[in-house]
Amino acid sequence: MSNKNLSGLIPLDSWGFGNGNPFIIAGPCGVESEKQITELAHKLKGKTINLLRGGIWKPRTRPDSFQGIGEEGLLWLKAAGLENGLPVIVEVAHPRHVEQALSVGIDCLWIGARTTVNPFLVQEIASALKGVDIPVFVKNPINPELELWIGALERFYNSGIRKLGAIHRGFSSYEKSKYRNVPNWQIPIELKRRFPELPVLCDPSHIGGSRELVGSLSQTAMDLSFEGLMVEVHPDPSKALSDKDQQLLPSDFLAMIGSLLVRKKSVDDVIFLNLLEELRDRIDRIDEEILQFMAERMSIAREIGQYKKENNMTILQVERWNEILRTRQFSGLQKDLTRDFIIQLFEKIHDESIFHQTQVMNSSETQKEKH
Ligand code: PEP
Ligand code: MN
Repeated sequence: MSNKNLSGLIPLDSWGFGNGNPFIIAGPCGVESEKQITELAHKLKGKTINLLRGGIWKPRTRPDSFQGIGEEGLLWLKAAGLENGLPVIVEVAHPRHVEQALSVGIDCLWIGARTTVNPFLVQEIASALKGVDIPVFVKNPINPELELWIGALERFYNSGIRKLGAIHRGFSSYEKSKYRNVPNWQIPIELKRRFPELPVLCDPSHIGGSRELVGSLSQTAMDLSFEGLMVEVHPDPSKALSDKDQQLLPSDFLAMIGSLLVRKKSVDDVIFLNLLEELRDRIDRIDEEILQFMAERMSIAREIGQYKKENNMTILQVERWNEILRTRQFSGLQKDLTRDFIIQLFEKIHDESIFHQTQVMNSSETQKEKH
């Protein structure tokens, strides 16, 4: 059973939860009471929701936070789903949770970010699912490590799970940011590139951490061809026992979903395709020029490295580096580039430049030349 490319996965539309474009999972962060989940399920009934979510066991950062209602909530969630024609999904973080979820007929499982980081635990959960035909979504680990995410997906694949998907929920970062978990879109994009059959959803609620960001993050996810969304919705977010700032009222959630622009992944209009090709040709040429410029820039850096070596001067000159950062930001901002991009671009260029200078400084050939 080759798992190199997670081949033979079952497309999301055939999981038995309806077709969704986008596929939508919605529900509270945590199931809190029978009334809460029943009321919410009723409001979401018949509204193109594919799965009703509800956390039963909540892995929380601090021990005094609400840890989830526990097993009795499973029955409330399942019953609320059945009454309103909604299949249900819960997070499992332990083989015992799997057993309890399966015993009440939960329709789908997800693995949370704090579990994905732990290969032993993921393996135990995956092993508990051997021979069980239940769909599983795996959220990214809290740290921005694609291989760890893939590793967890592979463990479920190796247990025979073919209704397998991923959920992007952003990554913890020590840096201050407007997001609760920074999106690092490049990571799920790379996951999609490596595993084209794998359905990848986006969880804008845990990325954003605040209600205001959920709509724009959802639109970004649609524009990046994510297959769907997992959104936290609560009948009264201000009273939520966890994640109260990011949960949406059912009415706001439905309005947000209704306003999403879901664009086509491909078109067959010949005129448009020709135009697109022409523009892509121009981009290809510009990329080639950028590489050419970079090569020239690095060869100058090597020359500078040689001079610094001959004059026994350090590679890093903080004043010069500050000046580069300052002047490039000034110029780049005037050209409508974003500050983050300019800084990151020049940090990368500077790193590469230091690498080339270090090579020159430490090469024995040039040392020999000198003597
Ligand atoms: C959740 O979905 O409520 C949750 C705990 O998410 P995450 O694992 O992404 O933090
Ligand atoms: Mn939550």
